[in-house]
Parts: sequence; structure tokens; C-alpha cells
Amino acid sequence: MKPLSVGDLALVYKPAPCCGYSGDVGRHFIVQAIAGDEYGDSTCDQCGETYASTDALEVDDTWHDIRTLKRIPPLSELDEIKEPEEVMA
Ligand SMILES: [Zn+2]
Repeated sequence: MKPLSVGDLALVYKPAPCCGYSGDVGRHFIVQAIAGDEYGDSTCDQCGETYASTDALEVDDTWHDIRTLKRIPPLSELDEIKEPEEVMA
């Protein structure tokens, strides 16, 4: 499985490890940013716990621990289905 990167569709499948917040479980988002040098540390919106750089992804304007996210392969990686960009164009 490929690692999550910006533009991927990510599913929140686990509660936040810091505070157990599960309100986003089952929702899916497009990854907007990956924490790192550019962003520095990021924090949990629910409890303020700091995530180490590169351990968090920004989706829906919220930082999530990377361990709570699962990558959903784009349709273009699946056989027999047209690329989404093609459909929307
Ligand atoms: Zn938290």
C-alpha cells in the first residue's frame, strides 16, 4: 500500500490516539498537507496534543494522526473505471 500523500482520499478509521476523539471516524477527506518542516508540529483540534512532524496529515482543515487514516486508492488505480479527472472535465 502506498503512503498517504497530498491529494489522496483518506478515511478516518480509528479514534485519535491522544484523546480518543471518534467524531471523525468513518468520514473521508482529501489530504491537504503533511506535517513536517514546512508546518512544524501540528496539534489535535480536540485536545491540543502535539503530533510530531510527519506523523500528522491535514484533512478538512484538521490535523489527524497518520495512524488513524487509511488511504483509499483513487479510481484511476482500479481497473475498468475511468479516471475521476476525466469524468469531471
Ligand atoms: Zn486529541
